[in-house]
Amino acid sequence: MAEVKTYNYLLRQDDGKDYRELGEYRAAGGYKAVLKAVRLGPDAVIAEMKKASVRGRGGAGFPAGIKWGFVPKETDKPKYLVVNADEGEPGTFKDNYFLSHDPHRLIEGCIICSMALGIETCYIYIRGEFFEQIDTVTRAIEQCYEAGILGESVMRTDQKLDVYVHPGAGAYICGEETALLESLEGKPGQPRLKPPFPAVVGAFGCPTVINNVETLATVPLIVEHGADWFVGLGVERDGGSRICGVSGHVNNPGLFEVGVGANMRDIIYELAGGVSEGREIKAVIPGGSSCPVLTKDEIDVPLTVEGLKEVDSMLGTCGIIVIAEGTCVVKCLQRISHFYAHESCGQCTPCREGTGWVARIIDNIEAGRAKMSDLDLLLDVADSIGGNTICALGDAAELPVLSFVSKFREDFAEHIRQGCCPFDDQPLPRH
Ligand code: SF4
Repeated sequence: MAEVKTYNYLLRQDDGKDYRELGEYRAAGGYKAVLKAVRLGPDAVIAEMKKASVRGRGGAGFPAGIKWGFVPKETDKPKYLVVNADEGEPGTFKDNYFLSHDPHRLIEGCIICSMALGIETCYIYIRGEFFEQIDTVTRAIEQCYEAGILGESVMRTDQKLDVYVHPGAGAYICGEETALLESLEGKPGQPRLKPPFPAVVGAFGCPTVINNVETLATVPLIVEHGADWFVGLGVERDGGSRICGVSGHVNNPGLFEVGVGANMRDIIYELAGGVSEGREIKAVIPGGSSCPVLTKDEIDVPLTVEGLKEVDSMLGTCGIIVIAEGTCVVKCLQRISHFYAHESCGQCTPCREGTGWVARIIDNIEAGRAKMSDLDLLLDVADSIGGNTICALGDAAELPVLSFVSKFREDFAEHIRQGCCPFDDQPLPRH
């Protein structure tokens, strides 16, 4: 087992400072990157972002600098920055850190992005259930207006920027970027057909860049230290450090900042303290509940977008869920499937009908009411959802089913043979 190097560039929870306070944030060098960005100029900032190879931290992993480059320079419409702070993927709790403890880092990233792209209005769309976080970010914005960091003249430059907090509508699907835009516009949060993409036709029909909280929080670091430094923390084409959250059956669950490319097994055993009660790992969901599950033999992988592709899964949000030996994976999949059935917005028939059908078949397997042929029926129904829908929720509903059943088919079959859950009498580890 290799020692995992951890960082505190993004995650500064243990240094005793209260970064919700503007004074403390500035005392630690906060908002200096804005002035450096002014000196560099917009083109150089965008070039640094591209060179830094920062892959979006919201799940899709699209390079943020390239995304910024899609926003047209010349347009007669206003341009918008929308922050996706609708963190709702099960197993994911990293953006919550910035919203709760370091909101100025996010605001500073918003200012630099807005300066680079000629944006004068930014919306921070925060998950509706995050009441305290909404208050914390709102207060930080007020501090910025009072200090001249936001408003008509950002830090005495000729940049104007207004930032608004928009409480989310309380639905998982509003984290999908076009559903988020619909919700922001006051409509039901239902994803749009793409193209056109938001960079061209986004909020209120205008060019819009949508970035995740953690992605924007890295921007001041890139401007302050340079793209070469940032790339050096990670790997080629996937730069920087990133925050991974480890939950489930581990002794030390929590958030850890590691270089992109750190080994997942080492993170689980070295940083998260290994599996509760000394058990073995049975399965790991690597990046939030929509990512295909891995067996214990597949977790020796670098945490990169490409590394997880190599094992037919996804890095997603870096929200690692550890499942210990003795756990019923059918029950795990049952929870996940009910979640996606509940959160389907209902626009597409395969998703609206298929997610409910999948959940009901798994209910029957878990309760011991299913036939062996239901396993293939389950795969068939799941397979007909993915790729046939407007948004990625269809794939998110399909992929866990395909991976759980193919990798743990014997567990599913044993439920059917015994006519009950064979794991019901096994005590689960803590956490
Ligand atoms: Fe709505 Fe599901 Fe279609 Fe996405 S895939 S648009 S959530 S019905």
